[in-house]
Amino acid sequence: MKPLLVALTLLLSSFAPTATRSDSADLVFINGNIYTVNEKQPRAEAVAVKSDRIIFVGSNAAVKKYEGANTRIVDLHGATMVPGMTDAHYHFIGVGQREMNLNLEGITNLEDFLAKVKTRVDQAKPAEWVTGRGWIETFWKPPVFPTRWDLDKISPNNPVFLTRADGHGAVANSAALKIGGVTKDTKDPFGGQVLRDQQTGEPVGMLLDNAQSFVRSHLPETTEADIEQAIILANKRSIELGLTQVQDPGGSYRDVDLYKKLYGEGKLKLRIYKAVYGPGPEAQRLLREGPIIEAFGDRLNLRTIKVVSDGALGSRGAALLEPYSDMPEVKGPDGRMQRNAGFLRVKEEDLLPMLKEALRKGIQVQTHAIGDYANRFILDEYEKALNAVPKSERKIAQPRWRDEHSQIVNPADIPRFAKLGVIPSMQASHAIGDLHFAPSRLGMERLKGAYAWNSFLKSGVIVPGGSDAPVERGEPMIEFYAAVARKDIRGFSGEGWHPEEKVTREQALKMLTIWPAYAAFEENLRGSIEVGKLADLTILSADIMKIPEMEILKTHCLMTVIGGEIVYEAVRGTAAIETDFNRLPVTDLWWRSDVDDE
Ligand SMILES: [Zn+2]
Repeated sequence: MKPLLVALTLLLSSFAPTATRSDSADLVFINGNIYTVNEKQPRAEAVAVKSDRIIFVGSNAAVKKYEGANTRIVDLHGATMVPGMTDAHYHFIGVGQREMNLNLEGITNLEDFLAKVKTRVDQAKPAEWVTGRGWIETFWKPPVFPTRWDLDKISPNNPVFLTRADGHGAVANSAALKIGGVTKDTKDPFGGQVLRDQQTGEPVGMLLDNAQSFVRSHLPETTEADIEQAIILANKRSIELGLTQVQDPGGSYRDVDLYKKLYGEGKLKLRIYKAVYGPGPEAQRLLREGPIIEAFGDRLNLRTIKVVSDGALGSRGAALLEPYSDMPEVKGPDGRMQRNAGFLRVKEEDLLPMLKEALRKGIQVQTHAIGDYANRFILDEYEKALNAVPKSERKIAQPRWRDEHSQIVNPADIPRFAKLGVIPSMQASHAIGDLHFAPSRLGMERLKGAYAWNSFLKSGVIVPGGSDAPVERGEPMIEFYAAVARKDIRGFSGEGWHPEEKVTREQALKMLTIWPAYAAFEENLRGSIEVGKLADLTILSADIMKIPEMEILKTHCLMTVIGGEIVYEAVRGTAAIETDFNRLPVTDLWWRSDVDDE
């Protein structure tokens, strides 16, 4: 056995439940307002936990027989307990990096944006790169992208590269464009766009999707120590919000190796359901080596390839069937006006062979699809692969492939999800921000299949819920509120917001618990409070199934339990992360929501 394997085996065995002669529990919760998400026993007062499993769910009286001399008893005093919450689309390392980098979130005008970047530029050494993330112009006046010339005023010498909150666009100053070799004559790459001045054709500094690589490839490399720090920060933040698992859509084996290291050292508590990007070498490695399933006491799973099929709606990179309503044409690299309907970012000849191999090897695929053209394209590709590889040749007959975002879908395509067994994995918070600008991008007619949670549910599929953090804040209470209210965080709803697409509270709770578990092949292991399942529990400060909508946003996490271990406990009367929206400026949440993804 190789030393690594020995170490891994030892680690795995240390997570196995320890047998004792006694029936007593390690942990007992009493006086709870418990929503189990188990239809056979929807409500309970008490839960008993032994090792990493739930051994009892029921009444205060009946739980007594599990109380022994070494049992920790937690009196919930009527607090609400739900199954440990999961975020089905959460860029885990990105969340940590957001805590570490020049954070441009929440800026409400160009002047403040430039002032904030300037403070960083003034500290930079000659020729040092200045990078940051999180800006969004939608609520600036006027709502236009910043340009290279804006940035040149505050940084004539140092290269500057600032990523929009959605990750699908970035603005570079002239020094950065020069390093990247971006000029008037630069052609748009496949799956990307260099935005140009409508008169002169000069690049204005905005680079969309794959065009970002011209500059991004010259940025200094992030060190492993930086990423480790980001992981530790993201772990802390996530468990304080009540998350017990995040499904991390994309990345590489470098991330996986760091997760393994930190699980081994006990520094990472959160469960991570990881994917790697494909088509390409990372996906090939997963297809070759096979999945990692339930490692470190089911802390780590890797069985999924993440594909990105188009851009985002905010930057007009989402691939649409018809041109953008608010900008149907743009100037192309040849100086002529061209049709503007977004772009695909993956080619069938690269994708389809990989999909077929994934079916044969039992690997899950999840694909980012925002626009109605991208959604139709990916359903077509999935369908071709499923037809080409019959069930008898698949390692897993029902592969549970996912469509991440399923954001703007032609109503004719909605029934195809149930028919093909494709899971729409959606982000409620995207809708309550996007719906401020989606009507102008798309026109009223196309909003009929946009963020259509309820239409999907009625068509016979489940809808796992995620936040797409750090594109959005990544707070489960915002996702829950957005799903049941379908209003922005001030309670506003506008024309074309389709209130009939909101979901019930029971459905919203499933979006954050049992449905992501199903989408991760874990519905028998997690996602409800049931005897035999892993003891993942989230305890909340208010009854989110009953309180007025706006109060959901003020609810916070009191305690987080992962595999029977209390990994977070709020100090009485406080919370590490207070979600108190009354303190925030009005626009603070809007910009965060005005995005679609990466
Ligand atoms: Zn994403």
